[in-house]
Formats: sequence, structure tokens, C-alpha cells
Amino acid sequence: MDYSEKTIEMARLIAENCTSCKRCMKDCLFLQQYCQDPQKLFQQFLEEGLEPIIPYSCMLCGRCSVVCPLQLKLDEAFLAIRQDLIKDGLPLKELKSVEWHQKLSTSRLFSAVNRGDKK
Ligand code: SF4
Ligand code: SF4
Repeated sequence: MDYSEKTIEMARLIAENCTSCKRCMKDCLFLQQYCQDPQKLFQQFLEEGLEPIIPYSCMLCGRCSVVCPLQLKLDEAFLAIRQDLIKDGLPLKELKSVEWHQKLSTSRLFSAVNRGDKK
């Protein structure tokens, strides 16, 4: 898997600056479940990548960047990883239903247009 330069740079910023204070982990069940701390997680990403379930489990709520003393943006990094993964095809079978929903909900077959000009 080839990640973009932008994604690598975001991950490197976290891996090199995170002090492992774990302030961001206090209220984040996702981080508590998937990592010892963000520094180690992003170091692991740089060395060997991550299972797609990990970046896809982040809620992208942004709370971590609010409480982080360094304002490290974990949510933006997880989103960037997701954007790279999806370019390579569906990274998770669970996303199949999302793909179908998007195809069907924009299909003319299932779309109704009410212009409001008929009684
Ligand atoms: S954006 Fe992701 S990592 Fe940050 S607090 Fe929310 S769920 Fe946790
Ligand atoms: S709050 Fe910031 S510095 Fe502390 S562990 Fe989380 S990402 Fe690292």
C-alpha cells in the first residue's frame, strides 16, 4: 500500500512529537482499545502500516486535538489514511453496504423529484 506524502508527513509529525502523555486517551474508547499510545501507533503505521479497522474505528470527533497540549491532529491523520486506503479499493467488507447505499441513493431509478408545481 502506497500512502501519500501528506499522510506520511502527518503520521511522522505525531510519531516524532507525541509525548505519550495519554491525555487524549482518557475519554477515547477507540484509542484505549487499539493502542498503547498515539506515538507508538503512528510509529507502527510508519514502519508496517495499520489494519484498516484501526483508522476506520476513529469517530473523527476531534476531541483528541482539543485536549492535546501540542494540538496534534490524530483525527486528520486517521482520515488521511482512510482516504488513501479507499483509493486502493474497499478496505473493509463492512463498507460494501455504504458503497451500495451511495450507488442506489443517487440512482435515477430510486430518485423522485418533487418540484412543487403540481397539486
Ligand atoms: S477523533 Fe478519533 S482519536 Fe480523536 S478522540 Fe475522537 S475518536 Fe478518539
Ligand atoms: S495528548 Fe497529544 S501528546 Fe499526549 S498522548 Fe495524546 S497525542 Fe500524544
